[in-house]
Amino acid sequence: MCLEKILKIRRTLAFRVTLWYAIVFSISSIGAFFIFYMIMKNIINDRIDQELLNDLAEFSSISKLKGDESLKSELIIEAESDGVEKVFFRLLDPAGKEMATSDMSSWRSAGIGRSALEQVMQSQNHVFETLSLPDRPYNVRIVYGAIGPGKILQIGLSLEEEARFFGVFREVFILGITTIVVFSGVIGWLMAKGALIGVEEITNTAIEISQGAFETRVQVKAKGGEIAQLAEAFNRMLDRIQELVKGLKELTENIAHDVKTPITRIRGLAESELSKGKPNDLFQSFAADIIEECDSLLQMINTMLAISEAEAGISGIFQKQVDLIPIIRKALELFRPLAEEKGIHLVSQASGSAYVWGDIHRLQRMIVNLLENAIKFTHFGGSVTVSINEENEQILIAVHDTGIGISKDDLPHIFKRLYRCDASRSEPGFGLGLSLAQAIVKSHGGDIKAESTPGKGSTFTVSLPWAPKP
Ligand code: ADP
Repeated sequence: MCLEKILKIRRTLAFRVTLWYAIVFSISSIGAFFIFYMIMKNIINDRIDQELLNDLAEFSSISKLKGDESLKSELIIEAESDGVEKVFFRLLDPAGKEMATSDMSSWRSAGIGRSALEQVMQSQNHVFETLSLPDRPYNVRIVYGAIGPGKILQIGLSLEEEARFFGVFREVFILGITTIVVFSGVIGWLMAKGALIGVEEITNTAIEISQGAFETRVQVKAKGGEIAQLAEAFNRMLDRIQELVKGLKELTENIAHDVKTPITRIRGLAESELSKGKPNDLFQSFAADIIEECDSLLQMINTMLAISEAEAGISGIFQKQVDLIPIIRKALELFRPLAEEKGIHLVSQASGSAYVWGDIHRLQRMIVNLLENAIKFTHFGGSVTVSINEENEQILIAVHDTGIGISKDDLPHIFKRLYRCDASRSEPGFGLGLSLAQAIVKSHGGDIKAESTPGKGSTFTVSLPWAPKP
């Protein structure tokens, strides 16, 4: 259930807009951080290099002005004042031989770069290196520089401070960016939801209309916006469709009513011929056939009109609670003589009470149609069972028979108007009984389903919203 909900949210436009917003925002934030990080790193590296160059210049002037002995003692003093763990100084001759050093106890693995020395000797300039030493946790920045004839000074500076600074910087960034992404995700989600609320309303209206609430319209709140324009266009379209459907329905109903009058008149004429009572007269026999055909036609037209009527009231709000149990009991009583005649066992599994909101006459008609079919399509010795159950605030009425069944190909079409399966053509009927049953069930906000195995039987299950006992 929870997973289904998550999957549903994943497919929504609001979620996708928010996701894209969060992705674009995260990528641009990470990109901006990266650029900022690189600029900071360059600035700090330049500053460190500049500090090392300043030291070289300072020791070069000490060597020139005060001589070698002062230089050597200055190296030691300077290292001690900066911290012997943080920095070291090593005075070398061009062959790489140590002439003097500061305290090297923390720098045992710091070697002398021969190629750097050669480069310094050739260019009389300075050379930088960044090394990772095995006994030191942080990288070391090293500079070699000539500070006088035959004198090269090697200075090593631990990059611990820089590494710590960038460590904190990264942590702050990760925390900051996570907070911003979550925050922007929530804001984005709320904004997307707010912007799409109109679309949601249109969808809900479309769902309500598809369930039969044809009068429903979308509430247009903020006029002028794109969604409001869409809602207005949608409402106008619905008005137009409703007008057309109404016109078409009125036309068919008028035709049906108009046809009923001449048929009734023909029937009347045939009846008066029949009432003359001449036995073995051919006209009498024709008159009887005409009456029968007229009755069939009138029944068909009346059922068609009943379907239109039920459909017009789809999802109509019914004020009365109707108990289905007595309806079923009466319907079973009505069909018992016919069932006995056909040798069919009628079983009722409906007791107590089962209330739904509805129209008693239409509900009666729906149950009669289902029972009539079940008996009609069940052979001698079979059985028809009607049961009632309550499940998730729905009343379930099941009409099960052990009759001829319905093939897989026919099953999806049986609720269509005038549809009759080939296997049942020998039985009387117009193919309208199930259409009417479905229209009635839908007008009560319910649903009807059929399951069947050819040769074994069928089950028609009607679900209707439960109503409290009055
Ligand atoms: P009809 O007046 O022909 O019974 P319906 O609309 O009631 O019209 O049913 C449509 C078709 O569905 C029937 O013609 C029949 O082929 C099939 N059908 C309906 N109910 C059953 C059933 N209980 N068993 C077998 N077939 C059925």
